[in-house]
Amino acid sequence: MVQRTLSIIKPDATCRNVTGEINHMIEAAGFRIIAQKRILITLEQAKKFYEVHQEKPFYNDLCEFLSSAPAIVQVLEKENAVLDYRTLMGSTNPASADEGTIRKKFAISIDKNSVHGSDSPENATIEIKFFFSETEIVG
Ligand code: ADP
Ligand code: MG
Repeated sequence: MVQRTLSIIKPDATCRNVTGEINHMIEAAGFRIIAQKRILITLEQAKKFYEVHQEKPFYNDLCEFLSSAPAIVQVLEKENAVLDYRTLMGSTNPASADEGTIRKKFAISIDKNSVHGSDSPENATIEIKFFFSETEIVG
């Protein structure tokens, strides 16, 4: 089934000027980037976006990091996009990410790990709506 997922290229990656290289990996893996914009996520938006993590000790730092510099938010489309993008990203901690994954190649640490991807189809729908209106998504 063709699915959509939300991807974010996080501030550590935009700061190192590797957004094109990451997009190349995304496209080479068969995803279509059907919406994309470079934005400064506000602290308020970051807190809302990551609210499931609000009890975690890293929550404040995580939200401050996400809003610290530009991010690229994008909608990716592919068969099985949600799970396949999680696979392409690699594990949250780059120390244990597999070869060939975005996080293995670009992540600096567990907190500066270069990309976000939705973790379920339900959350993908919610997260896509969080950043995009229907008219911004051109499949
Ligand atoms: P993922 O991004 O792989 O879905 P989570 O949803 O568990 O991972 O966590 C969201 C984000 O919070 C991670 O991508 C990472 O930036 C940050 N994070 C997760 N665990 C930690 C941790 N132990 N210390 C610092 N930051 C963390
Ligand atoms: Mg997550």
